[in-house]
Amino acid sequence: MGTNRRNFLKNTALFTLGGLALPQLTYSNMKGRFPTPGLKLTFEPYDLQLKHVFTLANSSRTTTPVMLTKIECDGFTGYGEASMPPYLGESQKTAGRFLTALNLTQFTDPFRMEEILEYVDEAAPGNTAAKASIDIALHDLLGKIMGQPWHKIWGYSPGNTPYTSFTIGMDESDVVKQKVDEAAPYKILKIKLGGPNDKEMVATIRSATSKPLCVDVNQGWDNKEKALEMIHWLKEKGVEFVEQPLPKNRKDDHAWLTERSPLPIIGDEAIQRLCDVQDAVGVYSGINIKLMKCTGMREAHKMINLAHASHMRVMIGCMTETSCAISAAAQLAPQAEWADLDGNLLISNDPYEGVKIVDGKITLLDRPGIGIREI
Ligand code: MG
Repeated sequence: MGTNRRNFLKNTALFTLGGLALPQLTYSNMKGRFPTPGLKLTFEPYDLQLKHVFTLANSSRTTTPVMLTKIECDGFTGYGEASMPPYLGESQKTAGRFLTALNLTQFTDPFRMEEILEYVDEAAPGNTAAKASIDIALHDLLGKIMGQPWHKIWGYSPGNTPYTSFTIGMDESDVVKQKVDEAAPYKILKIKLGGPNDKEMVATIRSATSKPLCVDVNQGWDNKEKALEMIHWLKEKGVEFVEQPLPKNRKDDHAWLTERSPLPIIGDEAIQRLCDVQDAVGVYSGINIKLMKCTGMREAHKMINLAHASHMRVMIGCMTETSCAISAAAQLAPQAEWADLDGNLLISNDPYEGVKIVDGKITLLDRPGIGIREI
C-alpha cells in the first residue's frame, strides 16, 4: 500500500471517529497526500484604451482588444495576456475559441512546461497571441512557486537592461511636438515612417528634439535603391537603426540593403517564430522578437540564443499591451541589444503594475514570476 493511500485511509478513518477534535482536511494539508488537481485556466476579454490615436502606415485605431488569462495551481496564480491588434488576424473571439478548447486540467505538474506548451502549440495552427497568454501565465505561476523572477531563473543580470525606445505616431506637427514633450524621460524615440511625408516627419521631430531616433517602416518602402538613399539621409539625422524597410517577403532585397546600409536593418514582420531566425541570417543585422508573434517567453528565450549564436542582434519588442505582457518580455531584456517595450505606456487603463521605466531604462523588479500586481 503506497504512502498516499495509507495517509488517505488514516485521515478518512479519523473523520469517522465522532466526538474527537479532529484535524480538518483542508486543501493545504492535503497537498502532497493526494494528486494535485490539474492547472485551472480562466480568461476574460479586455479592451485597452489608447492615449493617442495609433497610426501605422496603413491603419489607425483608438483601442486594442486583449484577453487576460490566469492559471491557478496549488494556491498560486499566474497572469498572462494575449494582445491582438486587428491587423494581425487574431481577436477576442478567436482567442476565446482557442482557449476554451484547451484542457489544462490534464496537467497536474506545472513544471512540465515543455510538455504543456508543446500541447498548447499543437492544439491549432496560428493563434500565437492566445498561445502567448498561456505561456506567460505559466511562467508567472512557476516563478511564483519558485519564489524567483524569471530574469534571475535564467541567470541574467538585471542591470544589463537596455533603454527602451518610445514610439511617436505620425500626426500633425503641433501634436508631434506635444508627444515629444510627453516622451521627455525616454532616451531614444521611435518613429513610424513609410508614408508619403517621411522626410517632413523626421524634420518635425528634429525641430522638437535632438535625441537619438530609430525608425520603423513597417514594410512601407517599395524600392531598395531609394530605401538605401533614405537610410543614408536618416543616418545624418541621428537615426540609429531601421526596422523592416521593405515588404517582408522581399528577402533578397533586404539582404542587398543590409549589406550596403550604414545603419543596422532589423527584421520584424518577417520574423515570427524560432523557425524564422535561421532565415534571417545574412538578410538582417538583427531581429525584433515579440511575445505575441512567437507564442511567448519560452520560444523568445530560444530565439535570442539562436540569434546571438548566428551573430545577429536582438530587439525585444511589443504590441500595445498591459504591464502583464510587457513585464514578461522585460524579463528577457538583459539579453537584448535594444528594447521597444513601451506598449503599456501608451494605454490609459492598465489593470496591472510591473516593470518600471526609470530615466528611460527598463528597471526589473525583484518580484517572483513576471513581477506584476493587480491595481
Ligand atoms: Mg516593427
